[in-house]
Amino acid sequence: MRKALIAGNWKMHMTTVEGCQLAADVSKACSEFTDREVLLAPPCNMLNEVSHVIKGSGIIISSQNVCWEKEGAFTGEISPLMLKDAGGSAAIVGHSERRQIFMETDELVNRRVKGALSFDLLTILCIGETLEEREAEKTFVVLERQIRKGLAGVESADMEKIVIAYEPVWAIGTGKTASKEQAQEVHAYLRKLIGQIYEKNIAEQTRILYGGSVKPANVDELMAQPDIDGALVGGAALDGDSFGRIINFEN
Ligand code: PEP
Repeated sequence: MRKALIAGNWKMHMTTVEGCQLAADVSKACSEFTDREVLLAPPCNMLNEVSHVIKGSGIIISSQNVCWEKEGAFTGEISPLMLKDAGGSAAIVGHSERRQIFMETDELVNRRVKGALSFDLLTILCIGETLEEREAEKTFVVLERQIRKGLAGVESADMEKIVIAYEPVWAIGTGKTASKEQAQEVHAYLRKLIGQIYEKNIAEQTRILYGGSVKPANVDELMAQPDIDGALVGGAALDGDSFGRIINFEN
């Protein structure tokens, strides 16, 4: 049985005071649930403070990216060790903004995945096609490449620490959501692919999140799809009421 996971990616938003307030609101909104998990990915500068605010709530704290080394000359990076030191236990890797704006390749993303796993972090590997790729009917080819390269060298035993986030690039921050049918079609494909790379039981246990303009108005129908196990939320995670409603999705 896969436990639903609702993740909020705050990106490069908010001051520490605002972030702590939002984390406190989210804490309240998710206090009653045992059938779902909630994850927050604040900017690195406030990881420590936010970790203190949510203490005891069960909320998972994540970074928005992570380096593969524990320390060294890697200007601008956060190491898995530093993340853990600040109260984090998860990392997002391969977000489309990292791939598109900062030119992160599948190979670099794979190093990050393996680095995160070597520190036992819950590792959210983001994948997704651009509008151009979808229109050229390359969606499945692109996703297969991102999955195979992103997970290269990841052993079956580590797959329980992997979460896949399918985020069509054309739906991120654009207000355009993939329809529930479009999202389900891709999620079912991804689960089958993971079953081919690993084993069927691993595919069955792997959580696959949907991301791309998830909001209170569409979360219920997305979460009702059999292969959608959660959501990675950007814009709507910045407001306590809307993220609270998303956490409270009905199934
Ligand atoms: C994201 O950044 O991962 C995301 C899905 O953003 P939004 O919800 O704003 O589309």
